[in-house]
Parts: sequence; C-alpha cells; structure tokens
Amino acid sequence: MAADRQTRLVLWDIDHTLIETRGVGREIYERVFPKVTGQPLRELAAVHGRTELDIIHNTLQLHDLEPTERTVNQLAAALADGYRDALNELTTRGQVLPGVWEALDALAGESGIHQSVLTGNTRDVARIKVEAFGLDRYLDLSIGAYGDDHRDRSELVGIARKRAAQQLGRTIPAAQVVLIGDTPSDVEAALIAGSQIIAVATGKYTVDDLRAAGAATTFDRPTDVQQLWRAITR
Ligand SMILES: [Mg+2]
Repeated sequence: MAADRQTRLVLWDIDHTLIETRGVGREIYERVFPKVTGQPLRELAAVHGRTELDIIHNTLQLHDLEPTERTVNQLAAALADGYRDALNELTTRGQVLPGVWEALDALAGESGIHQSVLTGNTRDVARIKVEAFGLDRYLDLSIGAYGDDHRDRSELVGIARKRAAQQLGRTIPAAQVVLIGDTPSDVEAALIAGSQIIAVATGKYTVDDLRAAGAATTFDRPTDVQQLWRAITR
C-alpha cells in the first residue's frame, strides 16, 4: 500500500477536549456498577486520559473484584446502556467546549485532512457522546480508535492508522497523524507512536503540565483556528 505524503489524520480526544459531561459520566458509573457487580461504587479509578478497559480493570480491583473478561465486558456494555438512558442529561448538563465547532469546521474544509477520534471511551460510548452533540458530522468514527480496542492508549494510534488505511486505501505515516488531547496520557500516546500532539489545557491539566509531559504545541483552547492549522501542517 502506498504511503500518502500529504494527507493528515487528525484524531481528537473526546472528554475535556471536544466536550465535557460535567459529572454525568461519573453518575452513570454509580448507576450501572451495582447492576453488574451487586456492590455500590465506592471508588472510581483515576479516569483522566486513561482507556475505559484500564479504568474498569482498576475500579473492579479497588472493590476486590476479579476483572474477568466477562465482568469487564458486562460493565462496558452496561456503561453504554447507561449513556443511552442519560442522553437528555448528557446534552443539557454537558457541553461542547468553546472553539471546538470552529476548529472542526475549519479543518473539515481542508481537502487533505481526515478527522476522527482517539479516545479512552469505548466505541459505543464514544459514538453516543459524539452523536449526542452532533459532532459526528465532522468526525469519521470508522477510522477512530477506542478505549475497548486496547488498554494502552499509545497502541490506539496504530489501530486508527490501520483503520484509516483500510478505508482510504493508502497508509498515512505516523508523523502525519495529529492527536489533539488534554492530558499527559494523550501527549505520551502521540510521542510513543511518533505522531504529533496538540495539547489543549481545557481539562484538569495546565499548559505547563502538558509541556512537562513533552507537548511542543499547546493551546488554552482550540479557538485560534489559524494557529491550529499551522501546527497541523507544520
Ligand atoms: Mg480527555
């Protein structure tokens, strides 16, 4: 398969990069965890920048429960059901972050750019979140990578590239993949994979935190579309 030297694959993180759920995600965990495990959720593992598989494993362990494949899959499926049931809360309490529509729209107008997601969310939950806010008109979810594809976020870059190659009929070199995300884990995933990272300080981490993690390009938010474009085509 021929390598494409022009095309860029822009992979957006979802939570605290495109949208924020403002507590709805945590509440869904509290609702579904007892249904699957018979125990109340006492503690949720750290979530920022981590894959859902990782969060589920650690959360089960925090409750002295064995993270068997069956239990992990049941919890992942229950979370997706929980999000489907909470669509109204998600869109009324949650929001698309400032600057996101403008950035997606501007990049959609460029012929060499394909936009999708690289997220810790499972495929089902990612789709529910993205569609709930109407962002799916800009994002080709078939070439994204998700938190139930692999536990290790850096592995998701290769998975997205493989999917993009199947869809587009040509490979996009890792250096032409651009991750946009809000956590040191997004930065690390991009650096390990040999891809670019644009880090946005729209979540819990500051520009300094993201720079310390190795991000050369950081923004307070993706509002300045021209700067974003320059960073991507650099
Ligand atoms: Mg995030």
